[in-house]
Amino acid sequence: MKLYNSLTKKIENFIPFNENEVTMYTCGPTVYHYAHIGNLRTYIFEDVLEKSLQYFGYNVKRVMNITDVGHLSSDADTGEDKMVAGAKRENKSVLEIADYYTKAFFNDTKKLNIRTPEIVEKATDHVDKYIVMVQDLLEKDIAYKAGGNIYFDITKYDKYYELSGKNVEDLKIAVRDDVEQDDNKKNPFDFVLWFTKSKFEDQDLKWESPFGMGYPGWHIECSAIALHYLGDHLDIHCGGVDNIFPHHTNEIAQTECHLGHKWCNFWLHGEHLNDETGKMSKSKGEFLTLSVLEEKGYHPLAYRFFCLKSHYRNQLVFNYDSMDYATNEYNKLKKKVLSLKNDNKEEIDFEKVMEYTKKYKEALADDLNTSKALTVLFDVLKDAQLNSTTKLTLIEDFDKVLSIDLTKEIEVDEELEKYIFEQIEKRNNAKKEKNYALADQIREELLEKGIKIKDNKDNTTYEI
Ligand code: AMP
Ligand code: ZN
Repeated sequence: MKLYNSLTKKIENFIPFNENEVTMYTCGPTVYHYAHIGNLRTYIFEDVLEKSLQYFGYNVKRVMNITDVGHLSSDADTGEDKMVAGAKRENKSVLEIADYYTKAFFNDTKKLNIRTPEIVEKATDHVDKYIVMVQDLLEKDIAYKAGGNIYFDITKYDKYYELSGKNVEDLKIAVRDDVEQDDNKKNPFDFVLWFTKSKFEDQDLKWESPFGMGYPGWHIECSAIALHYLGDHLDIHCGGVDNIFPHHTNEIAQTECHLGHKWCNFWLHGEHLNDETGKMSKSKGEFLTLSVLEEKGYHPLAYRFFCLKSHYRNQLVFNYDSMDYATNEYNKLKKKVLSLKNDNKEEIDFEKVMEYTKKYKEALADDLNTSKALTVLFDVLKDAQLNSTTKLTLIEDFDKVLSIDLTKEIEVDEELEKYIFEQIEKRNNAKKEKNYALADQIREELLEKGIKIKDNKDNTTYEI
């Protein structure tokens, strides 16, 4: 498999430390709010990565954290604590909102057929491990105490700028709005390992430590959890592009200084999903969640399909026209696949299976080119020489990675059904009021989403 490595900025042949086993760490959600569909795009990419590795025969051991402490509103160490702000917003405790939004996150990922990693760990369950690491960095004189907090001194790590590929001046420009002056820092990009002098007097979660009562900085959780579960050599670490700096940069610095050797070989980053006004952000107030899409009548797997159509390293702009287009395409594709199902089992053409599987693997091995993989799938469907059983065999196999339920009957979940009935009722009312223009518009809007309605004598039914 060839993958783009953000560390070397090259497409490289992927080779794990141990022949058949891949260790993979994914930065998990900060659970102060719902995930937006941009966040979910990143988790879809990581799911495709994990499943592709498995498709190529690797055993994948994957770990993900849940950030329930330490992430401030700027990714540097400034601004409000996201969890505390979330708890205040909802008049709940930090643990209550963490619990609520963790469940909401997994509810969304399940609907998107994103497999839950084997090991999922809450940041607050591993504070002892952060303390050990911070202590080690202090003993090595890589960390220092200032103003009550413990900071990492970035001048002690000579590869600090390797991942971002930027120098200190570029970074200052790139994160200008983010970096509040902290006079305790020796260098502007030194980062907090442990807060004792909390600027948040009402901080709910605090722990005893040799450096005083306090709480960990954001970056240390991923380093310590990854080291604990996946050992001193990590094959793949991934996240969204915004994680490159400072989060992953700081993770590398503190982990390699702690270990005394190189830590992770492959860094993979998914590009952002933007809306038409720019970057999607949870802290922007109104933001697009999977439930919002469902309330508007879109199936979650149509959103997964929408994401798979573009490469994970390209920015993707979300708008409803392209979502309608993808939904239609997805519904048609599904219908075509389902129409192949019949009771006569034909002989499988193994030569063709091998030929198409090879093409499909080549697409995935080409830095997870899912749009190319979908083209192979469409080619299978179009191939007049293939019988239905051969086509279905191939498609079932391809869907192990794509995970868009191509061979399953369409499941209309509660939210989608509610939406459809609401629209039907709205249309019936419009008809009663002789507002035929509105009635037609509703029918058209449903049709754009692949939902066909049919007026019977006594009722209206729908078909997807
Ligand atoms: P958070 O919950 O804010 O820690 O983010 C969870 C994941 O979503 C991280 O891997 C981020 O890099 C990623 N992410 C944040 N914003 C976007 C976006 N607009 N598009 C895609 N991924 C994003
Ligand atoms: Zn992380």
